[in-house]
Amino acid sequence: MSEPHKMYDVIVVGGGISGAMAAIGAARAGAKTLVVEQYGFLGGMLTAAGVGPMMTFHAGDEQVIQGTTGELIDRLEKKGRSPGHIYDTTGFTYTVTPFDVEGMKMELELMLTEAGGELLYHAMLASVQTDGNKISAITICTKAGLSQLRAKVFIDATGDADLAMHAGVKCTKGRESDGACQPMTMKMRMMNVDIQEVRDYIKNNPDEFPRLEGDVNKIDKASRISIGGFVKSLAKGREAGDFTFPREDILFFEANTRGEVIVNTTRILGYDANDPWSLSLAEMEGRKQALEVDRFLKKYIPGFGNSVLVYTGPQIGVRSSRQIKGRYTLTGQDVVERKSFPDTIAHTGYPIDIHSPDGEGTDHVKPEWGTFCNIPYRCLVNDQISNMITVGRCISVDFEAQAGIRTTPTMGAVGQAGGIAAAIAVQDGAAVGDVDVGKLQEILLKQGGFLCLKNFQPLE
Ligand SMILES: Cc1cc2nc3c(=O)[nH]c(=O)nc-3n(C[C@H](O)[C@H](O)[C@H](O)COP(=O)(O)OP(=O)(O)OC[C@H]3O[C@@H](n4cnc5c(N)ncnc54)[C@H](O)[C@@H]3O)c2cc1C
Repeated sequence: MSEPHKMYDVIVVGGGISGAMAAIGAARAGAKTLVVEQYGFLGGMLTAAGVGPMMTFHAGDEQVIQGTTGELIDRLEKKGRSPGHIYDTTGFTYTVTPFDVEGMKMELELMLTEAGGELLYHAMLASVQTDGNKISAITICTKAGLSQLRAKVFIDATGDADLAMHAGVKCTKGRESDGACQPMTMKMRMMNVDIQEVRDYIKNNPDEFPRLEGDVNKIDKASRISIGGFVKSLAKGREAGDFTFPREDILFFEANTRGEVIVNTTRILGYDANDPWSLSLAEMEGRKQALEVDRFLKKYIPGFGNSVLVYTGPQIGVRSSRQIKGRYTLTGQDVVERKSFPDTIAHTGYPIDIHSPDGEGTDHVKPEWGTFCNIPYRCLVNDQISNMITVGRCISVDFEAQAGIRTTPTMGAVGQAGGIAAAIAVQDGAAVGDVDVGKLQEILLKQGGFLCLKNFQPLE
């Protein structure tokens, strides 16, 4: 393998939205940065699992996710790869942000390389070497075999806390009562959907869409529709024995390209995303359910008669798995109460959104209009490893809080902050837990981030 002995300031393991934004944040803050990614492109769930749209950048009318993640959308919009932030016609949150998958892959790569960041694709973390309370190197597995990479600071952006787990950092998993995680979903990308026919059907059948609370005209407020419902059609299909997937509604989102929708309806229960054998079975169950959903849509849902299932992605969608046990664990109660922290580094206006680990049903705790929760830096650092920062959906949060902070705009904002913190730790020769948070917040604001630091409670 070329350049095996190169030393980096910051190595980011995992190039999902949080890892990409961490790397861009670190590189723009002056750190020599490398992203190590198992696939051949960036974006993680957004590009590998077909997740979309990004939701939500807003809390009420305020755009609380800005910075490099906001810039990503501005760039995509200018290139016609996203319609930007549009009204959420499901009535669930404030805005949704559709995008084009190939555009996303390219733009993330461009933003990273323009910032001076480097990429190593098709490289999977295999093990971690520690020296006392520090990671000294990581071993990766590539087509060339096993090799080591070194950096001053490492960022775990694997979503599954793989780096943390290998480094011996304490982790938890799933619901506190029984360890059950939110279900996985095999996302489906369908082309050739007649959206006008879908819109007409929705307007003529309001009782199919209880979430819209009778106001089906909401769907005309946006250039792309997002819709959850078809509950009567679903009941009919279930009665006829046409499918087995455990879902209470059909949920789909129109993508950037006309006639393309992302269907979020399969529900794969009881598998473990951290166990490769279990994950393999989940992929197979996901594809089986996807075919059922495809058949169901064509048979029962107007507009899907000539649709084509074009994509289920290289990997199934994983909502949650391991969480690190960090200096602070954000709780569902903190999220609901909108608890403030002096070391806040990101916000979110997204509701707590729990797809039931037990079967049908999706629980929501909707925030009061325009309010947002605060994510402290202490959720990104731990007491065992002094040169590792965690970003993304595996930061230190409990099951309920994770369901509120896990969506992609927020994960991008958390990533950017983690990347800047890593660069500061390198430049100041500090342990990541001792990074000057004031400096971090200052650089975050200079990089265009949004921070609201009013009413915080002092550090415990
Ligand atoms: C079914 C489903 C629907 C969702 N719907 C939405 C939605 O509509 N809108 C929204 O905004 N969010 C949605 N989410 C949530 C969102 O997709 C994720 O929470 C978010 O993408 C997490 O970002 P991340 O960067 O933390 O992790 P990921 O996106 O999981 O990225 C992790 C990256 O690390 C890489 N990686 C992992 N392990 C290793 C390793 N050992 N070595 C090397 N590389 C590795 C992966 O390939 C990946 O690129 C959904 C999630 C799911 C699963």
